[in-house]
Amino acid sequence: MPWEDQFECMPAEKMQAFQLKKLKETLEWVYEKIPFYRKKLDENGVKPADIQHVRDLAKLPVTVKNDLRDNYPFGLCAVPMEQLVRIHASSGTTGKPITGPYTAEDLEQWTQCMTRNLWAAGIRKTDIVQNAYGYGLFTGGLGFHQAATRIGCAVVPTSSGMTERQITLMKDFGSTVLFSTPSYALTIAERAEEMGVDIRDLPLRVGVFGAEPWTTAMRDEIQERMGIKAMEAYGLTELCGPGVAFDCEAQDGLHINEDHFLAEIVDPVTLEPLPLGEPGELVFTAIQRRAMPMIRYRTKDITRLRREPCACGRTFIKMDKITGRSDDMLIISGVNVFPSQIEALLLDVEEVLPQYVLVVRKKGHLDQLSVRVEAKPEVYDQGEEKRGQVEKKIGAHIQGMIGIGVKVELLAPKTITRSEGKALRVIDERPKG
Ligand code: ADP
Ligand code: ZN
Repeated sequence: MPWEDQFECMPAEKMQAFQLKKLKETLEWVYEKIPFYRKKLDENGVKPADIQHVRDLAKLPVTVKNDLRDNYPFGLCAVPMEQLVRIHASSGTTGKPITGPYTAEDLEQWTQCMTRNLWAAGIRKTDIVQNAYGYGLFTGGLGFHQAATRIGCAVVPTSSGMTERQITLMKDFGSTVLFSTPSYALTIAERAEEMGVDIRDLPLRVGVFGAEPWTTAMRDEIQERMGIKAMEAYGLTELCGPGVAFDCEAQDGLHINEDHFLAEIVDPVTLEPLPLGEPGELVFTAIQRRAMPMIRYRTKDITRLRREPCACGRTFIKMDKITGRSDDMLIISGVNVFPSQIEALLLDVEEVLPQYVLVVRKKGHLDQLSVRVEAKPEVYDQGEEKRGQVEKKIGAHIQGMIGIGVKVELLAPKTITRSEGKALRVIDERPKG
């Protein structure tokens, strides 16, 4: 049974009526309280009252990260400071940070959304939960913490880093659940192997991973190496943090908390809404937040939506695993490539470790992609000739599957910096312009 089955299993028609009501309230609210939205709606010639159906969303202008940066810190906040009980922030990769303000009601709803996620992952009050997401301004640490506390788990707030201590505590406390980024889970698995600890022998049984793109192949690798079920969480600071979408026991797509977040897929170039099932950029409207509602926020995340019955009984629409951020999409010899496609192929190769980084350079007018991946120690030790063969094999595999020529560099084990949070997968050395 889901955590809040009255919402999670709500029949479609009832859900649509609920969404429309909340959407209208939110539009009235932002129009009245946030000059940025009033101006934008006026410029586009729409009034909140023009929205009579959820699909009328497409009439509204989109919001982008730069709008949040331009209105830093509180320009998009609809309530006076005294009503805020928490302020998170995300630094992103460049430029000014963006803020995530919460009223008490927002915090409560966020906790509920995230609790649905953990509950769906099978986490219960008897669990000992090791939370290796970073605590602080990042929404991951506290977002997971609050929800696990609500279920009644014993939460161990390790935060990220100090990997050896993570493993010692995991052993000593008998942690049954791990929260971290998928890349940090791999770092922990690897360090444990070096310490002679087999995580598969420990009580750990489930992980809830998110905050960065990862492939199904990576999920299998983590499940196998840790002997756990690897579940997923998706979210972003602009909408609350983790708790926007989550997978269920079917492990087949992520259910979106659609009583809170309306999802659309648009063409990232034309911004035209795309039909259900088509891949494109995910756009969200947050319809229950008070401090900082979001109207048609462009996430830059690429995926597709599916509406279909799920074995778990939830009626929430599903999204596929995120393929990548449109920012990370590479165009190599005219072919669009996401780092996740390369990741999936590398995980097919038995001679390498799941540690890689992609380097893009300009060679003449062309973009050139180098795939740096670590060899397994026993492969690396066989010498240069063997390494050359493996590099060729990987290059041919990528050429055969994606149709692009890449330069493969097999690295010695442990040369790539291990991730403790969001992994750095792409180094772009092309001149900026
Ligand atoms: P930042 O923008 O600084 O990375 P956030 O922590 O708010 O700050 O990150 C949100 C982003 O993280 C999402 O837009 C998405 O790109 C990524 N993300 C979060 N969860 C997942 C997930 N399960 N799968 C893929 N990407 C994810
Ligand atoms: Zn389901």
